[in-house]
Amino acid sequence: MGIVDRLRYVVGAAYVVQGDGASDANAGWEQDWRRRTRGHGLALVRPQNTQEVAEVVRLCAAAGVSIVPQGGNTGLVEGSIPDGSGTQVVLSLNRMTAVRDLDPSNLTVTVEAGCILQALHEVVERAGYLFPLSLAAKGSCTIGGNLATNAGGTQVVRYGNARNLCLGLEVVTPRGEVWQSLSGLRKDNTGYDLRDLFVGSEGTLGVITAATLQLYPQPRARLTAWAAVPSESAALELLARARRNLGAGLTGFELMGRFAVSMVCLHLPQLRVPVFRGTDPYFVLIELSDSESEPHARERLEALLGEALEDGCMNDAVIAESLAQTRELWEIRESIPLAAYKEGVMAAHDVALPISAIPRFIAETQAQLTGALPGVRVANFGHLGDGNLHYNVHAPAGRDAPEFLRRHEEQIRQIVYASAVALGGSFSAEHGIGRLKLHRMESHKAPVELEMMRSIKRALDPIGVMNPGCIVR
Ligand SMILES: Cc1cc2nc3c(=O)[nH]c(=O)nc-3n(C[C@H](O)[C@H](O)[C@H](O)COP(=O)(O)OP(=O)(O)OC[C@H]3O[C@@H](n4cnc5c(N)ncnc54)[C@H](O)[C@@H]3O)c2cc1C
Repeated sequence: MGIVDRLRYVVGAAYVVQGDGASDANAGWEQDWRRRTRGHGLALVRPQNTQEVAEVVRLCAAAGVSIVPQGGNTGLVEGSIPDGSGTQVVLSLNRMTAVRDLDPSNLTVTVEAGCILQALHEVVERAGYLFPLSLAAKGSCTIGGNLATNAGGTQVVRYGNARNLCLGLEVVTPRGEVWQSLSGLRKDNTGYDLRDLFVGSEGTLGVITAATLQLYPQPRARLTAWAAVPSESAALELLARARRNLGAGLTGFELMGRFAVSMVCLHLPQLRVPVFRGTDPYFVLIELSDSESEPHARERLEALLGEALEDGCMNDAVIAESLAQTRELWEIRESIPLAAYKEGVMAAHDVALPISAIPRFIAETQAQLTGALPGVRVANFGHLGDGNLHYNVHAPAGRDAPEFLRRHEEQIRQIVYASAVALGGSFSAEHGIGRLKLHRMESHKAPVELEMMRSIKRALDPIGVMNPGCIVR
């Protein structure tokens, strides 16, 4: 029996699809989210429980077939699609969606890896709790993918990345063993932290099959403001003021450049962007979560914006009048990637910087880019409270964008990454490495760091069954 037939035997014939790298039927799992690369897998396998995952891994390891774990396939660094060889098995977790346990006293939820993030939000919200990880891909991305990429999103400023929300994991190792550590402990100093090793490992060290996650009480009120600011330094001043005035109530602080927002106006005209008429180069979205009441939240937010207006670090603002309006404001922010996609191909970057270095990064990078390639258009947006910018460079207006990028993409990337690294930043903030940024690792990481990563990979996955070509070579 060949490997594909054996996989059919383990998970059922209906849950194995053979790949061809070409037909539209397979586009979903062989194609990356940005539609820039299409792989060719041997097969897509969809086990229904941890034991089946373990059996699939054992079979593949014995046959020398490598595995690419896949959740919602919303990753932006080509780590969740097969390479072009036609030899890799894509292991989808999308049948493993159960919420196994919700423990109100321990403030934890234990959930299977294929559960969609938004579905988990709905379950815990019905029970009166909050799982604060939130990102624009929440309707498709999965908990397993969120943990495997250590996803960030829009509330990191208050609650941290996916890593900070994970208390325990269940993992199938590259040998096909099951490691279960779903205890939900907040303290457990018993040797190396294996959980933290798997979080952010992008499917290269094992398959995450379930996780125990930290919950928070639902805030009594959530209020959002949208403000126009005169510069990136002013946005930083507003952030510092918001931290001082709102303390732990500050749960979101997003920055958006005018060009990024103007793409939303152009390509998604059904979304109404407030205070857009002026010439302010930036907008910020501030979210306050309040444990008392809506009027209390409004009073605090109005006071903050009033002071900011007087100080000149903000020129105009609106506060959402309802939950529906709050959603509309977030929708504008979260639609920027879609609007950018409609605008055409671009060189997208996800950089992290010390927050204080952001104005310098923006000024210096812009000067270098326009010096080298006059007319390029920069769409800046991101999680200012975390020092994370999505810095997307589009071709000059009227130019053939694919052709422009074919000629200049590498030059653009070198300018942006060198500028971030020179200011103490990182070339990958929250999207990870995948296959797309593997070569950047080699140029930006110290040899000692790379060698430690390779040693860990060799120790846990000596035959290289798990997602080869991702993170480390
Ligand atoms: C519109 C949009 C907005 C986004 N916004 C953000 C954002 O704000 N913040 C952010 O951090 N990211 C963001 N992303 C990136 C992406 O959504 C996240 O990286 C997400 O966490 C990936 O989850 P997924 O289930 O889609 O994983 P996939 O894309 O399927 O996989 C991502 C990686 O994780 C591995 N993997 C997946 N599941 C498992 C598993 N169960 N066990 C082991 N490895 C696994 C894969 O092999 C791959 O390497 C955004 C993406 C889009 C399309």
